[in-house]
Amino acid sequence: MRHWRLILLVIGLVGLAYLVHRFLPTQHNPLRPPDLTEPLGLATYGKLTALKYNDEMCRQKLVDAGVEFEIVAADGAEARCPLEETLHLKRSLTPYNAAPLRMTCHQMAALHIWERQVLRPQAEKIFDSPLRQIQTYGSFSCRNIAGTGTRSQHSYANAIDISGFILEDGTEIRVKDHWRERSKKGKFLGRVHKKACRLFSVTLGPDFDAAHADHFHLDMGSTETCR
Ligand SMILES: [Zn+2]
Repeated sequence: MRHWRLILLVIGLVGLAYLVHRFLPTQHNPLRPPDLTEPLGLATYGKLTALKYNDEMCRQKLVDAGVEFEIVAADGAEARCPLEETLHLKRSLTPYNAAPLRMTCHQMAALHIWERQVLRPQAEKIFDSPLRQIQTYGSFSCRNIAGTGTRSQHSYANAIDISGFILEDGTEIRVKDHWRERSKKGKFLGRVHKKACRLFSVTLGPDFDAAHADHFHLDMGSTETCR
C-alpha cells in the first residue's frame, strides 16, 4: 500500500514538473535556454550567469538578438591587464557615444537586455520618446578600484560606466544632475538603476559613494551589490 502512495506521489511530481516546464513563460523558466529578446523574468539573472561559462552560446545569443560585434583576440602576456578573447560592440539597437566598447560576452549580453527591455521601453513610457543615445565613460580600462589595490572589473572588460542618455526629442538625462530629482528624469534614472540590479551582479550609482556621483557602474563580476 505504501509503495502505491509513493509511486502516485512520484507520478504526480513528474507531471507537475512537466506542466511547469511546458507552460511557464520562458523568462521565468531556468531550464529554457537564454533569449536576450525576452522580457525580464525570474530566471533572467541565472541564465545570464550561465552564459558566463559558455562563450559560444553567448555569442550566438547576441547574434540572434541582432547585436553586431567583433571578436578581439586574447592579449599577449606582455599586456598589463591581459584578457582572454573578448568582444568589441559594433552595433546594438541604440548607439553609444563612445566606441569601441570592449567587453566580455556575458557583460555585453546583460547590457543588451538592459538596453532592450529597460532603457528603451522606459524612455517611451516616461517621456513618450525613443532613446537616441546612451552615454558612457567606457568599459575596458586597466586599473584598480579607486583608492584600493584591487583590480577593477573594468580591467577584465567586465564592466561599463553609464553617465546619461539622450532622447530622440533632444532631452538629456544625466546621472550627475538628475539622480534623485523629483522629475521625469529622476524617475527614469531611479527605474533603470533598480532594474539593472536584476541583470548585473554589481550596480552602483551616486548613493554608493562620491566616486559614482556622475555615473552608474554596471558589472558582471563575482560579487553582488545593488546600491
Ligand atoms: Zn565603473
